[in-house]
This record gives sequence, structure tokens and C-alpha cells, in this order.
Amino acid sequence: MFNSSLTQLGAALRAKQISSVELTQLYLDRIATHNPVFNAYITVDAKTSLAQAVAADTLLANGSTGALTGIPIAQKDIFCAKGWRTTCGSKMLADFIAPYDAHVIEQFNKAGAINLGKTNMDEFAMGSSNETSYFGPVRNPWNQKAVPGGSSGGAASAVAARLCAAATGTDTGGSIRQPAALCGITGIKPTYGTVSRYGMIAFASSLDQAGPMARSAEDCALMLNVMTGFDERDSTSLQRDVEDYTRDLAKPLAGLRIGLPKEFFAEGLSADVGSRVQEAIAEYRKLGATIVGISLPNTRLAVPVYYVLAPAEASSNLSRFDGVRYGYRAPEYTDLADMYEKSRSQGFGEEVKRRIMIGTYVLSHGYYDAYYLQAQKIRRLIAQDFTDAFTQCDVIMGPTSPSTAFNLGEKGDDPVQMYLSDIYTIAVNLAGLPGMSIPCGFGDNAMPVGLQIIGNYFDEARMLNVAHQYQLATDWHSRAPQGF
Ligand code: GLN
Repeated sequence: MFNSSLTQLGAALRAKQISSVELTQLYLDRIATHNPVFNAYITVDAKTSLAQAVAADTLLANGSTGALTGIPIAQKDIFCAKGWRTTCGSKMLADFIAPYDAHVIEQFNKAGAINLGKTNMDEFAMGSSNETSYFGPVRNPWNQKAVPGGSSGGAASAVAARLCAAATGTDTGGSIRQPAALCGITGIKPTYGTVSRYGMIAFASSLDQAGPMARSAEDCALMLNVMTGFDERDSTSLQRDVEDYTRDLAKPLAGLRIGLPKEFFAEGLSADVGSRVQEAIAEYRKLGATIVGISLPNTRLAVPVYYVLAPAEASSNLSRFDGVRYGYRAPEYTDLADMYEKSRSQGFGEEVKRRIMIGTYVLSHGYYDAYYLQAQKIRRLIAQDFTDAFTQCDVIMGPTSPSTAFNLGEKGDDPVQMYLSDIYTIAVNLAGLPGMSIPCGFGDNAMPVGLQIIGNYFDEARMLNVAHQYQLATDWHSRAPQGF
């Protein structure tokens, strides 16, 4: 059961081979066994999940079902879910019970899916290793000494260890794709504006985008069908026709033009990751694709630009956590200013404070023009590079991450090294483009390698087609870590 696809699970539920209550209980048992080691979930609420499963079984009995009805899905703890503790990986929100549902959660509820629990993440989604979580690090099911990536590390670990059927993640600079790569699963960050950010705790609003993390492109397509859609409560939500993201999965790839940016295969890329990616490209040639050399000259500036813009937006978004309205309040203080100061110093972790300080600095008088405005201009140039590239190719491919999963503690003291984990993913967020990661083999340390596929705006269906055809021809995506 745990290796079944979402389509197979849906069919088994509709054929009454298993009930949603039984399936949910099976996953809850697995979580009880494995979560003490992997720490993939921050909150599990068996009673609520099982009550949802009872309701789903009624829907199934009546035959009024969608593709995900009765299927247990893990939700990143960045999404407000009514009545659920929603922590965002922070002490600041350690006891916060969300009073309403995020749009994404509403969509899953409407689809009759089961909320299996809230997954661990870097604090306020700031990180690439899940080590900044107030609730402790997550372990990678392929090697318990290794990080799962971040910030959606709990989601990636839970999918890889078969502790859920599929999961949600969010990606501001790579947080769906990089952990998907490091845990050997499939994840897609859609075009900015495709999935509503309503009720998704904000990190950097112009970059944040939610998406699915699952074991295959086909599963991601089914998840995306549920997650997307216009929502007037998010001013950047796009008013577009409803799409079926599975519609092109079966299309052959003959004639597909794949762009390989020379900047993605330069210094800094581990040799084993580079080889696996080239082998995947060779497989695509066999499937009928042609390869085009391209250049994205401004992507070398993506990491510095991101680390001006994302902290700037974060410093503004996180100003709401002041100890007054909700969240942590210091137990002792002398006056209002002292209460703000103590609540924020005690409630936020080190990385979050670092970002708030950088953000406040680059937005301050005298530095705004030099840093923030300059970064905005370069962001435009980075997006233009992609627009130019897509006149020559249909999709762009390269590595998702420069190396396979590193060990816990290995990069903890060096923020810049950590920031470089996202060197191939960040430009995609700055441009607002869709990007995904699929497993394409293993590195020298037997850890998974991810192939990144970048599409043009709104080209999710094509990217999923490109990923699915590779997954029909190879079996990297169906490999499971030992013991799972
Ligand atoms: N690792 C990047 C950061 O720390 C990206 C995080 C994300 O995508 N949420 O900001």
C-alpha cells in the first residue's frame, strides 16, 4: 500500500479494498513508529485525521468522490489549518492554534483529502537543511546522519519514508525542489500566482509559492489539480481557467528542445551530481529530445539578489510578531518597548534574526537605493535571461542542488555555504517561473541526485509531461530508502 501511487490509492478506496479510516490508521501507525527518529512531523492529531477519514468514507460510499478523496496528505506547518497547531517551525508560534484554513487547506478539504499532520520545516521557511526548526532537525531516510534539505525538509522526509501518500511544500528560493532532490522524490514549484498564498505564513511574499511533493510527476499533477485556482483573498492570485495538469502526461517527447545553461554546469557543481544529470540528459535524447546550449548570464547574481530581497520582505512580514496580537510573549518585561524586544529576541531563532537585521538594513534610508533598488533591477535582468532562453528551447534542465545531502551540522556555522545550496533554484523564484525536481540517480555517497526542470510561465502541464515520460523510462523515482 505504501508504495502505491495516488491513482492506485484512489482506485483501491473507490473499489472498497480499503477504507479511508484504515488507510489513515496505517499511516498514523507508521508515523508512530518512525517519527521519533525522523522528526518529519511537528503535529499529529489522530483524532481529527480519523474524523476526516470517516467523513471521506461516507463520500466514497455515496460515490461522490474526486481523485484525492480519502487519501492522507501531510501539510507543511506553514499553512494555517483551522483548529490545528500551526507553528511555522518557530518558538514564536509554538502554541498558535490557527483560527481559519489557508486556501490550500480548504482546497484539500473540499477534495475530501485527509490532513495527516503538520510537517517540520526550517523556522519561517528560512533554511536549506531543516536545522533552523525550533522543533529540532529532520533526518534524511536515505541516511540518518544527513539532512533532508529545507525548508520543506519534513515533507520530503515524510514522502521518502512513506509516512504520507503525498505532501505539500512551499518554495521561496528552492524549498520544494532542493529537499525533493536530497530525499529522492518529485516536487514542483508552480508559476508565481498559481497557488493562493492566503493563510500561508508569509516569508518573502513576492517569491513564496506552494506546491506538491510526492513520489512521481503523475502524483504531483493530481495534487496540483487540487491546490491551484483563483482566490480573491490573495491579491497576486491569478485569474485563469482551471487546468487539468494530467492532460499532457502521455504525450511523446519527440521534438522537445531542452536548454542546458552553461552556468549550471560550471565551478561549484559536484562531479557525481554533474554526471547523473548528464546521464539523465542522455536518456532524454533517447526519448527524442534535442539539446540546445543556452546561457543565463545574470544567474550568477541570483544568490546575492535573493539575499537582499527575501530578507527585506521578511523583515516587513515578520514585524507582525510583536508579542501583542498572537504568538509568543516574553513572561517578564518592564514596558511596551521592552516587551517587543524581549518577545522577539526570545521568540525568533538565530537565522530569522539574521534575516530581519539584513532586511532592515537594506531597506533603511541611505542603503535602499544601493541595495534594495539595485537588487530589484537585477531581478528584472535575471527574468529577462529566461525569457530570452525560452525563445530557443521548451524547457531548461540542470542540477537541482550542487551536491547530494550533506551531514547534519556540516554547514550550520557557515550561512554563506548554506545559501549556496540554492544556487540553481533561486533564479527561478526571482523570475516567477515554474520549476521542478525529479530523482535521476545516486551520488558517490549513495544519496539521491535531483534533476531540475524549469518551464516557461504556466507550462506546468508540459513540465509534468517531460518528467512523467522520464519516469516511465527509468525507475529512480520508485526507489525507496532501505527499510521503507
Ligand atoms: N534556502 C532558502 C532560504 O533560506 C530558500 C528557502 C525557501 O525556499 N523557503 O531562504
